[in-house]
Amino acid sequence: MEEHTLKFFVDHTLGKLAKYLRMLGIDTVYFTQTDVYTLIEKASQEKRIILSRNTKLKNLDNRPNFFFISDDQPDKQLSEVLKYFKIQITPGQLFTRCLKCNQKLIAGNHDDVKGKVPPYILGIQKKFSLCPQCRKVYWKGTHLEKMEEIIGKVLKKKD
Ligand SMILES: [Zn+2]
Repeated sequence: MEEHTLKFFVDHTLGKLAKYLRMLGIDTVYFTQTDVYTLIEKASQEKRIILSRNTKLKNLDNRPNFFFISDDQPDKQLSEVLKYFKIQITPGQLFTRCLKCNQKLIAGNHDDVKGKVPPYILGIQKKFSLCPQCRKVYWKGTHLEKMEEIIGKVLKKKD
């Protein structure tokens, strides 16, 4: 499986989009501060493309590596990004990153996740993914199914 080389830096107006990109396994930093100059500096340090709805960025002399998001609906924003950057999503990429901290998830077994998931889930699920940073546990279930549904809708809408 080929790793995506695109890395994004999403500003504070696009929290949901950041989450969607992470669902797709795309390396995405969510920047919660409002200062554009810090935003630009951090993004360029990490060689990330800025995604923003801030028109101020458009008019800067030293235009940063930046893509302007025109839509205000997160699912449409996601398809804007996928289309513009010609990102192809493979099923193996989905849900490989923590939605909270962007870390790559690692496989967890029953012992790793005991006490962190409801007991009935432990009984019915065999595979878990674990965030090495915040220790959040992910598993196939209604939560992921719902995300898959959203992603499926967006991907179908692409053309
Ligand atoms: Zn995490």
